[in-house]
Amino acid sequence: MNVLVINAGSSSLKYQLLNPTTGELLAKGLCERIGIDGLFTYKPQLPGKEAIKAAPVSMPTHSEAIQAVLNALVDEKNGVIGSMKEIDAVGHRVVHGGEKFAKSVVITDEVMQAIEECNPLAPLHNPANIIGIKTCQELMPGVPMVAVFDTAFHQTMPPVAYTYAIPYEYYEKDKVRRYGFHGTSHKYVSQRAADMLGKPIEQLKLISCHLGNGSSVTAIDGGKSVDTSMGFTPLAGLPMGTRSGDIDAGILEYLMNKYGMDIKEMVNVLNKKSGVMGVSGVSSDFRDLEEAFEQGNERAGLAVDMFNYGVKKLIGAYAAAMGGVDAIIFTAGVGENSASQRMAIASGLEFMGVKMDEDANKVRGEERVISAPDSKVTVLLIPTNEELMIAMDTEALVG
Ligand code: ADP
Repeated sequence: MNVLVINAGSSSLKYQLLNPTTGELLAKGLCERIGIDGLFTYKPQLPGKEAIKAAPVSMPTHSEAIQAVLNALVDEKNGVIGSMKEIDAVGHRVVHGGEKFAKSVVITDEVMQAIEECNPLAPLHNPANIIGIKTCQELMPGVPMVAVFDTAFHQTMPPVAYTYAIPYEYYEKDKVRRYGFHGTSHKYVSQRAADMLGKPIEQLKLISCHLGNGSSVTAIDGGKSVDTSMGFTPLAGLPMGTRSGDIDAGILEYLMNKYGMDIKEMVNVLNKKSGVMGVSGVSSDFRDLEEAFEQGNERAGLAVDMFNYGVKKLIGAYAAAMGGVDAIIFTAGVGENSASQRMAIASGLEFMGVKMDEDANKVRGEERVISAPDSKVTVLLIPTNEELMIAMDTEALVG
């Protein structure tokens, strides 16, 4: 079975065509500057096929973008399938499923309506995801489509973890609660962890650290998310590339009054100008920060230290919340690549049975145990694969 995975944003769209049974990736790529001019990237994974890199292709709407993807996939010379008939299903990433979706679902008219009802919870993302779905429905009539939500995996959190200590009617009437994000990634790596440990996931307490440009840590007890660091929005939790993470809400009033900022400007500061970028004043990219620190930039060092410290505190908190931990997982850009940050985060946790293996930790982007053989808690490096997880969910629902 071939599944086309679509991750549609407002002006960009990522895609992959893969076989969830074998895990084989046939092609992947990206449409950029949709609605502006249009750039098309196509990376076939079969031998002898030529890639296309950021070629100008007119994309006034998502329709032309998706059509360009389909044309490339079936292209006589460089395509990877013979015809559209070989696309058996489409899996769509949808950011917010609110409390309506605790699992991936086959898309029907009712499902579309329910996704639209979640739009106020993710006004920047869900509308673009919906456009991606509608466009595929038009261009691929009759092909089953599945929605996979970033929030769904976290719907197993208990009220004690998801309720905010504000008047309860804001939850009841307005659905203000912790939702959590990166669910597809946390679910994927937790399943891989169970495989690597050779134990049923129901018997495991896991802490999954998705550390990238956006970062979140999740406590997974028996395969179920029981707490996570992102909240009502992805602004919560750890300091990130440019997002502040948790701060004292009182700071907003203080700064808004002092500098005459309105709430839009304030939130823009918190989303786009804060995090390790804001603290360092150098970059949101951890590679740049390490380099800047080596050249003597103290604030770059502080930003990285604050981030690592934040992850370490969450690991401690979630071990306490679950009454123990069997394995800690590192994934995403920083988690998969930065041996020094993994070491900084895990060191000092010896008291709770974490003992890293320095040599095993000197690795990038491959599944591996990076703790010492006598470590009570296993530490795992697991590259995430959200597209494969979306394709697997899609296959499970329509296959
Ligand atoms: P996104 O949240 O955008 O999906 P990624 O998971 O791709 O982000 O992570 C991107 C981040 O990973 C970059 O901003 C960069 O800071 C970090 N990163 C990538 N490679 C390395 C590395 N070798 N060392 C440290 N950080 C890295």
